Amino acid sequence: MAQHQVKFGNGLPVALTTVDKIVNWGRSNSLWALTYGLACCGIEMMASGASRYDFDRFGTIFRASPRQAEVMVIAGTLTKKHAEFIRRLYDQMAEPKWVISMGSCANTGGMFNTYSIVQGADRVIPVDLYLPGCAPRPETLQYAVMMLQKKIRREPANRNRNIPQKRFI
Ligand code: SF4
Repeated sequence: MAQHQVKFGNGLPVALTTVDKIVNWGRSNSLWALTYGLACCGIEMMASGASRYDFDRFGTIFRASPRQAEVMVIAGTLTKKHAEFIRRLYDQMAEPKWVISMGSCANTGGMFNTYSIVQGADRVIPVDLYLPGCAPRPETLQYAVMMLQKKIRREPANRNRNIPQKRFI
């Protein structure tokens, strides 16, 4: 039978850290994502959550309610008709919250420089990370989540950011 023995030497082991680090560690490893598939990029986002890429490994679970989500993934073409709703959902998410803009359409309007398309999701809500591509592959979204985790671990735990006013054009 295997026997395990822990020797503490001159006393119990002590781990020193800060509250910020503990809070951010918890936050960065439990990023529940609000699904926001607006067009073809949404298919790649869905693939990220499926078995091959398995976002659950990162503690990132897709949710259908803004009240249960910390990160909004905007995947696809954002129309001006829809801008009001994206802002409303963003406002319903509790702080702290983050936004990933996935694909050229969400970043800049993409090829659709037309009267009906918002030329970048950051005209409506603040964006933390921009993913280039048409469409970015699930690996890119995975990498973005890992970058967001790094960013969160560097932030102060009581972060308070200025959210810009509504601007739909
Ligand atoms: S960036 Fe490309 S793939 Fe993504 S929504 Fe726009 S056209 Fe579709």
